[in-house]
Amino acid sequence: MSKLRFKVVEEAFHKKPVDVPSPNQRPSEYFAKYVFNREKMFKYLSSKVYNKLVDVIDNGAALDRSIANEVANGMKKWAVELGVTHYTHWFQPLTEGTAEKHDAFVEHDGKGGMLEEFSGKLLVQQESDGSSFPNGGIRNTFEARGYSAWDPSSPVFIVDDTLCIPTIFIAYTGEALDYKAPLLRSLQAVNKAALDVMQYFDSSVKKIITYLGWEQEYFLVDEGLYAARPDLLLTGRTLMGHEASKNQQLEDHYFGAIPARVAAFMKDLEIQSLELGIPVKTRHNEVAPNQFELAPIYEECNLAVDHNMLVMSLMRKIARNHGFRVLLHEKPFKGINGSGKHNNWSLGTDNGTLLMAPGKTSEDNLRFITFVVNSLMAVYHHNGLLKASIMSATNAHRLGAHEAPPAIISSFLGSHLSRVLDHLEESTENDLSSLDGKQALHLDIPQIPELFIDNTDRNRTSPFAFTGNRFEFRAPGSEANCASAMIVLNSAMAEQLTTFKKDVDEMIAKGETKVSAIIAVLRRYVKECKPIRFDGNGYSEEWKQEAQRRGLDCETSCPVIFDNYLKPESINMFESTGVMTRKELEARNEVKWEMYTKKIQIEARVLGDLVMNHVVPVAISYQGRLIDNAYKMKSLFSEEEAHALSAENLTLIKEIAQHTAFIKEHVDKMIEARKVANRITNIRSRAIAYHDNIAPMLEEIREHIDQLELIVDDQMWTLPKYRELLFIR
Ligand code: ADP
Ligand code: MG
Repeated sequence: MSKLRFKVVEEAFHKKPVDVPSPNQRPSEYFAKYVFNREKMFKYLSSKVYNKLVDVIDNGAALDRSIANEVANGMKKWAVELGVTHYTHWFQPLTEGTAEKHDAFVEHDGKGGMLEEFSGKLLVQQESDGSSFPNGGIRNTFEARGYSAWDPSSPVFIVDDTLCIPTIFIAYTGEALDYKAPLLRSLQAVNKAALDVMQYFDSSVKKIITYLGWEQEYFLVDEGLYAARPDLLLTGRTLMGHEASKNQQLEDHYFGAIPARVAAFMKDLEIQSLELGIPVKTRHNEVAPNQFELAPIYEECNLAVDHNMLVMSLMRKIARNHGFRVLLHEKPFKGINGSGKHNNWSLGTDNGTLLMAPGKTSEDNLRFITFVVNSLMAVYHHNGLLKASIMSATNAHRLGAHEAPPAIISSFLGSHLSRVLDHLEESTENDLSSLDGKQALHLDIPQIPELFIDNTDRNRTSPFAFTGNRFEFRAPGSEANCASAMIVLNSAMAEQLTTFKKDVDEMIAKGETKVSAIIAVLRRYVKECKPIRFDGNGYSEEWKQEAQRRGLDCETSCPVIFDNYLKPESINMFESTGVMTRKELEARNEVKWEMYTKKIQIEARVLGDLVMNHVVPVAISYQGRLIDNAYKMKSLFSEEEAHALSAENLTLIKEIAQHTAFIKEHVDKMIEARKVANRITNIRSRAIAYHDNIAPMLEEIREHIDQLELIVDDQMWTLPKYRELLFIR
């Protein structure tokens, strides 16, 4: 393709949205412009249908098919007015992204013309051949039917000329093939279990809402430089590259001024996010050069997950309009911080109380401690599984490095809340009257003092930190679907709260009062889950040993960590909460192992190609020049003099020879190791072979490439270096 033609195609592809809000429009004026929210439902639906739909959304009432046609019609009318021509079921397969298949609204009108058509049937459910999506063998090709079904709890929205309908994606036989279906089940489970427990405190509560506030970290690089790095292009990370002389040592990037080009990108991203109803709020530079963060106001968990998926695809698209590529990989560059996605998680009631926030009254605080302690119990019992929920070939580079949460799940509570729990543990029923002198307030339940939780008390090394009214799960990867972590956390919490209710009810049945039964059970729990609490330095060597002693999961091999999903206690937890069956779990693990293998396989291939096509030829031709020079010296100077003058050159010639020999030999070894691994038929064992035998070779080879990068003439080095990739001006 000629350059000119390429440019035309590119421009057409990235054409700017036609209706950029004018500079004097306020965000509140264009917020949710492209979302079929309540305001639009009210306008485009009859009041009878509107009320039924709102009941479905708010109370999880069954979707009455008889209203589907009118809903579809209303949506179509709204969408067509905005220039929309297509619709798609938008779903979240077990890969990182989202999937969609666009169909036009058109139908024959029977008179030789066309009309815009969109029926309730098409809105509610669609059959699609999804056998090409990862499914872990649930669907064989002969029974390749899968269904996508509308999730009315997440509103329909418009991207470009397409009406997008959030859907779940399930097999013909009912098993989930996506993230949304189990997420919705886990939210239902936590609602039920937490609601039962809330009856001890406030019987007027009718519904428990799970909230998620994610913080998305990402890198930007210049598009031209990105295109010149096949490793970035094909694997999302740099497989080689020596550290720049300056990177994040000075910590001058964090919270620093945002470069103008980046600010323009962020503004565009924010406007388009707001138009899609995503309440983005915070933006700032992150620790590493070229690294940034975006965070919205927290939302209901299912909606927040959809919005995060949408933001990631918006980022990819909008970055290109600004001459950037966005890198969502967890570790695009060696030697500087990687990117995560903090998941701030909390529960709240339909009347606006946050269950993990301390309150004014002692009842409030008993409720607060109940939900905090049960969260700790859930995380304690399933710490290995929680780690599995965030593990991937890409996030593995980040965890355990001195920048992100360690590969051991523990919880930080801060000194104040720790003291409250210690006090609860140590005291007997009657002397719980105070926390400390200052806060010994007269409360009607003397056991629980009034609480002032100081959330400035922070520990950046903790994977699961209490931050005032929520827990912040910091281990998820920047590229991951938040749902993976949320499914496990919600299910574990649902299971735990069910146990708690049973334990308390048993004591009440034996004659205890409600309050003393709750306190007694909590005291027992505080003792039991103590091993999960850790306020120290999560990066230290001592912690690894201490965590081992405490019986926490310390496994670091990604494919082995996935085993946690199939432990009896995990299967039991998922099945008892109705979130996933053993069959689904087994199938999903197959997908995880397969994905792991493929990622390492691709990296190994790309590195092999780069080495043989770029690195080694360049190094050898530079070496040739040095050799040439050494020979020519001899014609100018005496043998002895020439030798002395070429000493440096000769050393370099030798070094280059050693590095290239090592690289070539190990690339061959790596190919052999892949052949051996590929012959393993068991998916899990194959992934382990890739982890144990191939992944380490990538690192070994890289070290030698990075050494070559330092000595070879810069003019000859074909690949953009870190210092070029990393400093947007
Ligand atoms: P920090 O970087 O210090 O953790 P940020 O302001 O970047 O703080 O992010 C905080 C995130 O936590 C935001 O996404 C915010 O919406 C979210 N958040 C705040 N309160 C809650 C809550 N009760 N439940 C869930 N998320 C919350
Ligand atoms: Mg945070």
